Amino acid sequence: MDMSSISHVSTIDNDDVYAMDRKYVFHSWSIQGNLNPLVIKSGKGSKLWDFDGNEYLDFSSQLVNTNIGHQHPKVVEAIVKQAQELMTIAPSTANLARNEAAKRIVELAPEGFNKVFFTNGGADANENAIRMARLFTGKTKVLSSYRSYHGNTGSAIVATGDARRIPNEYARGHVHFFSPYLYRSEFHASNEVEECERALQHLRRIIESEGPSSIAAILLESLPGTAGILVPPKNYMQGVRELCNEFGIIMIFDEVMAGFGRTGKWFALEHYGVTPDLITFAKGVNSGYIPVGGVIISEKISQYFDTTFFPGGLTYSGHPLAMASIVATIDAMKEEKILENVEYISNEVLGPGLKKLAEKHNIIGEVRGAGVFWAIELVSNQKTKERVSAQTMTEIKNLCAQKGLLTFLADNRIHVVPPCIVTKEEVLEALKIYDEVLTEIGCH
Ligand code: PLP
Repeated sequence: MDMSSISHVSTIDNDDVYAMDRKYVFHSWSIQGNLNPLVIKSGKGSKLWDFDGNEYLDFSSQLVNTNIGHQHPKVVEAIVKQAQELMTIAPSTANLARNEAAKRIVELAPEGFNKVFFTNGGADANENAIRMARLFTGKTKVLSSYRSYHGNTGSAIVATGDARRIPNEYARGHVHFFSPYLYRSEFHASNEVEECERALQHLRRIIESEGPSSIAAILLESLPGTAGILVPPKNYMQGVRELCNEFGIIMIFDEVMAGFGRTGKWFALEHYGVTPDLITFAKGVNSGYIPVGGVIISEKISQYFDTTFFPGGLTYSGHPLAMASIVATIDAMKEEKILENVEYISNEVLGPGLKKLAEKHNIIGEVRGAGVFWAIELVSNQKTKERVSAQTMTEIKNLCAQKGLLTFLADNRIHVVPPCIVTKEEVLEALKIYDEVLTEIGCH
């Protein structure tokens, strides 16, 4: 317990906050009656505290968004300063904070990108990227992977591949395909080269069968996150780019989860040297301190809208508080060499540490990832790769929480996704807890 980090002593305790939540708050993705939300009061860096003084090490980065950690002083200060000057302004105005944020993002993007359209989050970033691709090409269909999550609005949730799409399928023109996942290959591949070739051949067949003249865009997470941190085989993204070129399809990279330092680069696309036509972002751009997202637009598409009406907008597009937080986040990440920290942590501490865990524990089928973006895939049988049960995953979550570690779990995987500012000591502490918990679980 570190009471010094709790900003003020109050008589409110965890039970009070929990009871009030259950009475008034309707939560995402849940049967409301089954919920058991964790109570959190405050945070700093990689740590969080509840009202009773319990401390947690946050290896979830919440929803993989607090890349700069909790309560970064420079970002908080920038928000306060902007709040004192101008709290809100219509998107139709020219605003200095918005200009500065857009300029910084364009400068980080690959060559050939020149403008940013700001949204309220990641889903509407994808929504608007899809809209731009459809308007630009005059075509309708959008191809995306079954192994994806793109957000919870009209087109974004139907572009999503995972099961959350199914109760929401009201948008039209969406087609799905299988992107690579060698550990559970859909293509009977036994190595990366085969997986890559066969996944590209499968995508080509989908394009040909759907009719290239009807396909506006291929939307892909630059490094699929929620679906399992599925690092694509070498040359896959290049192959998708070539298919897009061949058939006149707009390539959209969703960098919402993978961008802004998560993989050790500003954008995960830098790992492949592949340039899409549109890039969507949110989360790490300001670590979620104020809700924001956006579309980075390539010159060819932005020029099209110089003379063609863009039928889209949001009251809070380019909100000054969000813009100020983006400027401060990007500047602080550069000044404090946070991407360099990610490289160091990944190469020297987290990557090797997770590989050691995999050697020790039979329950680990595979460890994969980059930067501070790793998955531990848990299986009950190494040979058959049968997934561990949902009950085992709940036990893991609870045991980790009891030991003060917040985890991000998805299906049969632990996603090891600490903030980009995580220290060596914090990673070693988390690795120790994973080791203890997997030992306990493995003994059952
Ligand atoms: N795209 C990806 C890759 C995501 O991981 C997410 C959220 O997890 C989204 C889009 C949706 O972002 P938001 O929840 O901000 O709408």
